Amino acid sequence: MPESNAVTMAKKKKSKREYVWLECSECSQRNYRTEISVAEGTPKLELKKYCKTERKRTAHKIRRK
Ligand SMILES: [Zn+2]
Repeated sequence: MPESNAVTMAKKKKSKREYVWLECSECSQRNYRTEISVAEGTPKLELKKYCKTERKRTAHKIRRK
């Protein structure tokens, strides 16, 4: 029986990071790309960002693929 399997599995659990979109909550335009930590699931985050489509600052939500 191979013993190395358990060790290999444990090493895979490193800090998970993922590229996500920041999507405008008003016009649904995906304006920004950012990298977030998804170790504890998707953060419930809203950022005030400039929306080029509407030419004003709006709330942007994280959108995973
Ligand atoms: Zn917008």
